[in-house]
Formats: sequence, structure tokens, C-alpha cells
Amino acid sequence: MSNNPDGKGTASPAAARPDDLRKGVLIVVSGPSGVGKSTLIDRFLREDGRSQFSISYTTRQRRVHEIDGKDYHFVDERTFESMIAKRHFLEWEKVHGNLYGTPRAEILAILQTGKDIILDIDVKGAINISGQCAAARLIFIEPPSVEELICRLSLRGEKEIETRMKRVEEEIARKGEFGYTIVNDDLEKAYGRFRKAIDDIRREDNGKNNC
Ligand code: ADP
Ligand code: 5GP
Repeated sequence: MSNNPDGKGTASPAAARPDDLRKGVLIVVSGPSGVGKSTLIDRFLREDGRSQFSISYTTRQRRVHEIDGKDYHFVDERTFESMIAKRHFLEWEKVHGNLYGTPRAEILAILQTGKDIILDIDVKGAINISGQCAAARLIFIEPPSVEELICRLSLRGEKEIETRMKRVEEEIARKGEFGYTIVNDDLEKAYGRFRKAIDDIRREDNGKNNC
């Protein structure tokens, strides 16, 4: 399922004063479920003082270790549908049978403060955002192999491995649409590459880009 919101350019233009010129960068991290996106992002957010995680809304059931309002905003389908109707989302998708959406206003407000935003969303959602916001930068996290991905999902205690694996080939086939691809094989090495990609994005963006 796909959506086609009109979220382009809803942020107000930057004020002309030099101090206000730096706007945050929208960094979209995507890749198959279980590949290690949260692991890389959580560490980065702990070490980095100038970025913030975008908390998505979802109708999925909360996992035991997850905190409402920190990992996701957990809502029921009726609430989610009414948020779609009110154009609350920059993008939303049905993933593995559950609805997930990126809140529009929260993101634009944070970008205006000069903080970078990190999104952890599925591949279709990432490409959707890229279509609406040319300044967004996309990072694809790739597994070293499908076998290793299955192993990670099992270790995480995931029950719906088959549902999640059905999408993997389709997702990997679209990695060429991402500006950066990082294979998460050895965690330390992958994390180093992840950090470097974000450093490069920031350097290239020079703090003036915005969604
Ligand atoms: P995602 O957010 O992409 O769904 P997670 O970050 O939850 O994936 O990672 C899935 C599982 O794989 C977790 O148990 C995590 O600790 C583990 N993991 C992440 N990266 C690696 C790695 N490089 N090597 C081995 N296990 C990893
Ligand atoms: P999980 O249920 O494992 O937390 O997430 C399942 C998938 O949904 C992951 O690929 C994750 O990146 C994606 N996802 C999480 N939030 C969003 C969102 O707001 N929009 C979209 N399109 N995908 C999301």
C-alpha cells in the first residue's frame, strides 16, 4: 500500500539572519527488518549531540522492551486512519500487516531548530520521502546474507520471520535508489561506515539544506 501526501515545502523559508541559516538534514535509514538499523541508529544517537530520532506512529503491538512515545507512538487502527485523514503523516505504509507513519509537523519543527532528524522506515517509505523532499539523504543497510538475516530475526525472538522475509528481495533490489549502502556484517566496522556516511552527508549539505 502506498500513499501520496502533498507534504512538499510546508516548512517556512529560512530567515535571512546568518545564525538561522543552518537547518537540520533529514537522514532516512532503511533496509530489511532485522538487518540492524535500530542497533546502528541507537548507538549513533547516544554518541551524537545534534540529531534526533523521528518517532513513528504504528498500529503494531508493542514488544515487551519497547516504550510508548520513545520507540513508537502505539495507536489503534481507528486513530491511525483519522491521522491519515488529517494529513498528519509525511508518508505512511502498511508493513508486515501493520500501519506505520512518519509525523510531518514534528519533523519539520525539529529541522527548523537546526537538529538533524534520523528516520528508520521501510524502503517504500524512504523512496516516497525522497520524492517529496529532494534534500533528504538515504542510507540503505544491507545484510551480509539472507541466512544471517534470518538468524538475527530469530535471535531477536521474532515470531513472524516468514512474513518479514517475503519483502527482503524486493527491498534489496531497490538499494540502487539510495545514496549510501552499508553492509552490516561486523558491527564495529559497519558502525564506522555508518558514522562516516553521516559525516559525509553533513559536510556535503553544509548545513543549509532543508526539506
Ligand atoms: P532492525 O532495526 O533493522 O529491525 P535490529 O537493530 O533490531 O534490526 O537488529 C536485529 C538483531 O540483530 C538484534 O538482536 C541485534 O542485536 C542484532 N545485530 C545487529 N547488528 C548486528 C551485527 N552486525 N552482527 C550480529 N548481530 C547484529
Ligand atoms: P518493526 O515492526 O520491526 O519495528 O518495523 C517494521 C518496518 O517498518 C521496518 O522496516 C521499519 O523501518 C518500518 N517503519 C517504522 N516506522 C515507519 C514509518 O513511519 N514509515 C514507514 N514507511 N516504515 C516504517
